[in-house]
Amino acid sequence: MEILYHSTRTEGNPVTASKAILKGLADDGGLFVPERIPALDRSLEELSHMTYGEVAYEVMKLYFTDFTEEELKGCIARAYDSKFDTEVIAPLVEADGAYYLELFHGATIAFKDMALSILPHLLTTSARKNHVTKEIVILTATSGDTGKAALSGFADVEGTRIIVFYPKNGVSPIQEKQMVTQKGKNTYVVGIHGNFDDAQTGVKQMFADKELAAYMAEKGFQFSSANSINIGRLIPQVAYYVYAYVKLLEEEKIKAGEAVNFVVPTGNFGNILAAFYAKQMGLPVHKLICASNENKVLYDFFTTGTYDRNREFMLTSSPSMDILVSSNLERLIYRIAGDDPDKNRELMSELRQDGRYTITEEMKAQLADFYGNYASEEETARTIHDLYDKTGYVIDTHTAVASCVYKKYLKDTGDASVSVIASTASPYKFTRSVMKAIDEKYDHMSDFDLVDRLSEISGTAVPRAIEEIRTAPVLHDHVCDKTEMKQTVLEFLGI
Ligand SMILES: *Cc1c(COP(=O)(O)O)cnc(C)c1O
Repeated sequence: MEILYHSTRTEGNPVTASKAILKGLADDGGLFVPERIPALDRSLEELSHMTYGEVAYEVMKLYFTDFTEEELKGCIARAYDSKFDTEVIAPLVEADGAYYLELFHGATIAFKDMALSILPHLLTTSARKNHVTKEIVILTATSGDTGKAALSGFADVEGTRIIVFYPKNGVSPIQEKQMVTQKGKNTYVVGIHGNFDDAQTGVKQMFADKELAAYMAEKGFQFSSANSINIGRLIPQVAYYVYAYVKLLEEEKIKAGEAVNFVVPTGNFGNILAAFYAKQMGLPVHKLICASNENKVLYDFFTTGTYDRNREFMLTSSPSMDILVSSNLERLIYRIAGDDPDKNRELMSELRQDGRYTITEEMKAQLADFYGNYASEEETARTIHDLYDKTGYVIDTHTAVASCVYKKYLKDTGDASVSVIASTASPYKFTRSVMKAIDEKYDHMSDFDLVDRLSEISGTAVPRAIEEIRTAPVLHDHVCDKTEMKQTVLEFLGI
């Protein structure tokens, strides 16, 4: 059955999946949502015998209904291939009573590869389907991982250009090195003086700027977004929750129908929203455990019903979660408002004006699927240390936030359900924080010595993504003020 997409902020104007993917953001600044969440139409038992790509197809075909089978399977085949260093794509590793779903086996060793390896193909297929002849300009704000994953996904993809803005002092040295060494004639990387929210706000303003859009169109360009607000990012992420569940089933770790928990280290709320969609599709899920770092806006939201961004912005060892405005939360707000765009628009305009909003008691009652908590910097480091000590398994800082929050959840509830922790980055991406957490003595070592030492103590091979940047030359050194982002884009496009 066909599924159309419309904005979270106004009624009407439904568009096809391919149009929603092309546009990224709706014209009114809202996010595209499917008019309903489809139910899985294969049994869990059937799905359990499928490969990652096959499960991904069974999920995505229900959402991207204007793609032909051939188109969608083509996109999937080009995305989940040897760019990943394991054939299973997203392995499950058991450690200390929980399952870690490793989402970091792609080109840039973080979970954003799961969606960004397929988005360029979904986008170029969408362009073809809609007879788009303009060059597509991908504009992205990143707190570290999106940037590199998007750059690597789009590099030299014909008919596209990609411009990435990152907070100059808000990403890890390895994250920065990964981005500024990016090859590809169509790639541009810019550091801004400001934090991630500044970068994201600047990008959102450009998307909403009608004059700019008209000028771009005149010059043969059209914006699109690779940020996690694009439905072409969100839906591919639903697939790995279904995959994780059916693999547990196949390995007889759970019985069919048994509900599991998903624990998700959260920033922009895209990853956990995908888990929520999976649950709404009929996947047996008990709790969605939302883990925050010291920027604990979401924890406060889940406990009080008030979302309040008016607070100090903290730089933590899990920079990809250093976010005060979680864009994808808007899709959940829309949903718990009873799919009511007026109510949602009201709250979003309060957020814009006052930096805060409070949901109704009725809406709050619908958040029972979620549990929120957070981990301090010290707790995060201790979690990495203790898990390594106990099991030899090394996790990154983001995953450690989730692992720590899972422990808090267990203590709070005693819930014995099988739990899957989304492991969102390889420890090799945040080597210094990880190694320092394991032992202070490592802190004096250089980044690449730490990489080698991590390989020794964990018994894992150094990922290709890290090997590649050891010697790569810096190709991007542009820095601008947060007020100069638009000018920078026009300069890059030469218009
Ligand atoms: C982006 C990211 C997150 C947060 O995911 P959201 O979908 O933004 O909530 C967590 N961990 C890592 C490593 C990331 O790159």
